[in-house]
Order: sequence, then C-alpha cells, then structure tokens
Amino acid sequence: MDVPLSISNPPTQDQARKQADGLRFKTLSDYKVAKEIGDGSFATVYLATEKSDRKREVALKVCLKKHIIKHRKIEYVQREKQVLALLSTAENQHHAIVSLFATFQDAENLYFVLSYAQYGDLLRIMLNQENEHFILDHSKYYSAVLLSALEHIHRLGIIHRDVKPENILMKSDKRIILSDFGTAKMIDVENKKKKEENEGRRRRNSFVGTAQYVLHGEDTTPASDFWSFGVVVYQFLTGKHVFHDESEYLIFKRVEGLLYKFPDDFDSAARDLVEKLLVLEPSARLGTGEGAKSIRSHKFFDGISWETLATIPPPDVK
Ligand code: ATP
Repeated sequence: MDVPLSISNPPTQDQARKQADGLRFKTLSDYKVAKEIGDGSFATVYLATEKSDRKREVALKVCLKKHIIKHRKIEYVQREKQVLALLSTAENQHHAIVSLFATFQDAENLYFVLSYAQYGDLLRIMLNQENEHFILDHSKYYSAVLLSALEHIHRLGIIHRDVKPENILMKSDKRIILSDFGTAKMIDVENKKKKEENEGRRRRNSFVGTAQYVLHGEDTTPASDFWSFGVVVYQFLTGKHVFHDESEYLIFKRVEGLLYKFPDDFDSAARDLVEKLLVLEPSARLGTGEGAKSIRSHKFFDGISWETLATIPPPDVK
C-alpha cells in the first residue's frame, strides 16, 4: 500500500506550460545512479547523471517515506521542497544557493534532484587546510558569498535557521552553495511586524538548528541568521566553534553569557564584525533594520567586489 505522503503539489501554471511544451515530469528511470555520497538523518544522497542529452551530474536526495512518517518529519520535507522550489525559479535563482531541478516520488521514496556539490561540505574542506582553518582572504571570500546568499533569501522572506559550514557545499568549480533548507522558515516580514505591534508582546519560536550556531528562544527574523553568520565567520578564521563546550547545556550557558575569546592573532576588522554580530539583543545586532547591506559595508569586507562575486575566481583550496 502506498504511504499517504506526497510532495507533489498540483502543477503550477509554469509547470503546466512546460508539460504542454512536451517536457514531462521526471522519474527515477531518467537518472543513472552512480554512488552514495552522503547520509543525513532523513535522507541518503547519491551522485547521479541525467540520462537525457545533457548528461548533467546531479545529487539525488532520497527520503524514505516510512522513515519520514515514523519520525514525524513530513513538515520538514515539505518545507524543504517549498523553499527550494521558490529559490529555483528563473527569477529567484542565486549563484550561491543549491538548485532544485526536479522532485518526484514512488511508493517508497521522495526524490529531490539537486545541483551536485563535488567537494562536499565546507567543514570538511576547512579541516583539510593547514592549521584546520581558512586563511584571512579565503575566509573573507566565503563569508562574502554566504552573506550574499543570506541577503537573497531574506529578500524573499526566507530565514535559513541552520547556517553552518556543514550546510555550505562546494561545487566542482570550487564555488560554494548554501544548502539544507529543511529547517528554513518563510515569513512575511511586514505582516509579522504589524501582528507583533498589535499583540504588543513577543512570540517565541521553538528551538531549531544547531546549538553552537543559534540563539535559543529568539524570534525568527533575518537577525537569527546573522547571529549564525557571526559564529561561522569566527569558525572560518579559527577552525573552532566560538561557543565550544562539552554539552548543549554548557553551550547555552556560554551563549547566554557571551563567554568566548578571540585568539591573539585574530584579525582586528573580523573581531569588530564578530562582536557586532554576536549581540544577544537582535534589535542591536548588525544587520537588523538595514539588513545585510550594513554588514556588507563593514571594514572586514573592504576590497570585496560585491558586483563580481559570482564570477571572480574562487580560492583554489584543496
Ligand atoms: P541532516 O542530518 O542535516 O538533517 P539530511 O537528512 O537533510 O541531513 P542532507 O544534509 O541534505 O540530508 O544530506 C546528507 C549529506 O549528503 C550531506 O552531509 C552532504 O555530504 C551530502 N549532500 C547533500 N546534498 C548534496 C549535494 N547537493 N551535493 C553533494 N552532496 C550533497
């Protein structure tokens, strides 16, 4: 018997037009599966090749329906599809965000066909570098590209909520892409603001994301991603978690008390940026109000050419 879970929404006008143009929806038989490349909590990811003339390499993310239902992750998978579909339309595509080429399903599985990131995640790559962290120039470049991806999703009302090096992948051309939108949230910023004013009180969201990278109990706004962004900038430069400790409880205590240190040789502009991002009160955090623009103009990013970020050669890291 088929499991009652579907990620196939009724075709949109655009999909209907494509069908009419002779393009058909995909099935597993459209891909040649080569090898397993990753395993997450709810999915196994394979390298596959499109059998069509393009022979494009893709990442095929396979989610076992029974597993998703058993672990009550239906909403998580549907959210990921909804957000990726929005980010993959011609007008919303961004050079530093994973693309969703197709979704389909059979009796057992849900399938996501994604852009393939040959070199895997940025944490693994960072730990492969000399001293297990990125040099200043590379940290600047990756931070700038990540910021540009965050700026883009925020503009579309999407908050990622799990920004960390494991969720940044590297393609064969060594460019990075933000991935894993399973815990993302779509917000209507204006409506939310009005609602909060009317209610006259702050609503709290349940905890999502990864302890070292998120602030527990904070409302979901772009500022939540900017906190994680600050944690990631520190990590690129040191190879370490800024709030490292032995348990989640101790990590929360460190976060609450802003208990962290900079190594003596930490770049001074980067230090100023991190200090302005790791601010407990979201309204006082850099990026709140003006958005990513105020982070872009921070002196840490002096020399970054924002206009050509998508085309300048990326660092040739090993
Ligand atoms: P999580 O445990 O974070 O919930 P998940 O079940 O949602 O994970 P993913 O994180 O999406 O699954 O994927 C699992 C692994 O597969 C990743 O750690 C990564 O190594 C690999 N992977 C995912 N997407 C791609 C991709 N587009 N290209 C190459 N490898 C990928």
